[in-house]
Amino acid sequence: MSEFEKTLNEVMLCRKCRLSESRTNVVFGEGDLKAEVMLVGEAPGFNEDKEGKPFVGQAGKMLSETLLKAAGLKRSRIYITNVVKCRPPGNREPTDEEVEACLPYLEKQIQFIRPKLIVALGNVAAGTLFRRFNIKTASMGSIHGKVFNVSTLSCGNFKIIPSYHPATALYKPNVSGVMMGDWVKIGEVLRSLK
Ligand code: URA
Ligand code: SF4
Repeated sequence: MSEFEKTLNEVMLCRKCRLSESRTNVVFGEGDLKAEVMLVGEAPGFNEDKEGKPFVGQAGKMLSETLLKAAGLKRSRIYITNVVKCRPPGNREPTDEEVEACLPYLEKQIQFIRPKLIVALGNVAAGTLFRRFNIKTASMGSIHGKVFNVSTLSCGNFKIIPSYHPATALYKPNVSGVMMGDWVKIGEVLRSLK
């Protein structure tokens, strides 16, 4: 059994935080294990909890049908996960303790997949990744669409590009143009890595 499969088995039974008490399914992640691009969201929502897969609800539709297209990316070629793997009740934000408890799983995913680029979807993902990799953070308004280079011993070298959470476009239509711009940039950055 590979390290990755071991981690997967462990997560499925995980009770390290209280989100385990209310979840229906653990949502570990989905996609190409050799992907160059990894997307990190916040936490599973209602539909994700029900299906055990990330970004299958409205936000997922926005992501797959609009944003990925703007970057020239296919969903089957990327890997998608979240900061926490179990749904917070009522879709509240995960607490610092829950994020802390779950973070080793995300690190394992980064170590195994070794993406060249991680897109942090929204404040929770950006804040968590920036803290973990010692990047000075600021508001999404000033960091979105920018490239941050990370060099680590344990997880290799990669870039992080933060952008707004896809769900934001659903209730703040004025942000969707800005998001589209970020995803066009993400596509350009990726092509420049080849
Ligand atoms: N929002 C997230 O952050 N992640 C999902 O998987 C779905 C909605
Ligand atoms: Fe375990 Fe993460 Fe689920 Fe908490 S959210 S129970 S740490 S898998």
